[in-house]
Amino acid sequence: MSPEKTRESSPQSASKEPPPHHTKVLHLLYHELRPAKSEYSYVIETGEFEKHSDLFVRARSEASSTLWPEITFDDGHLSNFEFALPILQSRGLQARFFITVGWTGQKPGYMGWEDLRSLHKAGQFIGAHGWSHTLLTHCSKKDLQTELATARLTLEDKLGTSITTMSLPGGRSNPQIINACLEAGYTHIYTSTPKSESLPLGSTVGRLNILRSITLDQISAILAANGTALPKLHFLSRIKTAAQSLMGDALYEKLWAISNRKETDPIPAEAAENEDPTHHQ
Ligand SMILES: [Zn+2]
Repeated sequence: MSPEKTRESSPQSASKEPPPHHTKVLHLLYHELRPAKSEYSYVIETGEFEKHSDLFVRARSEASSTLWPEITFDDGHLSNFEFALPILQSRGLQARFFITVGWTGQKPGYMGWEDLRSLHKAGQFIGAHGWSHTLLTHCSKKDLQTELATARLTLEDKLGTSITTMSLPGGRSNPQIINACLEAGYTHIYTSTPKSESLPLGSTVGRLNILRSITLDQISAILAANGTALPKLHFLSRIKTAAQSLMGDALYEKLWAISNRKETDPIPAEAAENEDPTHHQ
C-alpha cells in the first residue's frame, strides 16, 4: 500500500493531527470562490476565504480552543483549484475536495482530471460527491451503484489512491442511503448537518455550510464557543429537512431558489448556471 493510500484511509488525519486538547472537530463546507463579490449565496469571495483560512490557522494554535476546524469543498468547481488551492498552500492547510465524478473534464466550470491530480499531489484530499449529483434519495438501486461504487472506483483508477470518503449531494440522506454508502466502500460519509464531531470520527460527519451571509465574526464566535452555538443551527437544519419532506424536493428547490436569490446576477448566462440545484444543501 502506498503512503498516499495509508493517509487517505484515515480521514481524521486530513491535516496536521489536532493537539490532544482539541477534542472536537468542526468541518466547514464551501462550494465556489470568486475574486469579485457575488450575490449568490454559495459563492465566497477569495478575500473572505483568505480571512477564514487565517482564522482557522489561529484557532488551531489557540490553547483555549477545544474545537479543531477542518475545510471541505463540495461539487469540484474549478475555482477550488484556481483560487482555493494557492490560499490553502500558502498557509500550510489541507482540505477535503468532494468531486462530482461524472462532471470531471465534462462540465464547463468544473475541474478536469489534471486539476484533480495536481490537487492530490499537492497533499489535498479527494473524496466523492456522487457521479451526477442526483439526490441519492431519488435513486433506484441501479442508479445508486453508479452514484456510489462507479464514482469511487473511477476516482481511484484516475488518481491512483484509495477513496473512502463521500459527501451527500444536496445533503439528502436516510438510513438506507448511509448503509448503501458503507456497502459501496466509503468509511466516512460527510453530511450537511451543522454539528461538531468527537474524535475519532464516526461513519457520518456533520458539516457547517458556509454561505456568503455568514460573517467572519460569526465563524469566529462559533469556534471560540467551542461549538456551543451550533445546536441552534442544528435545530434550523432539522426544520429545513422537515420542510423538504413535507413539500417534496421539487417545490422546496423552487422556494429555495427564490429565497436565496436576492439580486439577479449581472451576467444572464451565469445567473442561469446559478439556479442549478447542484448547490442546494
Ligand atoms: Zn453538491
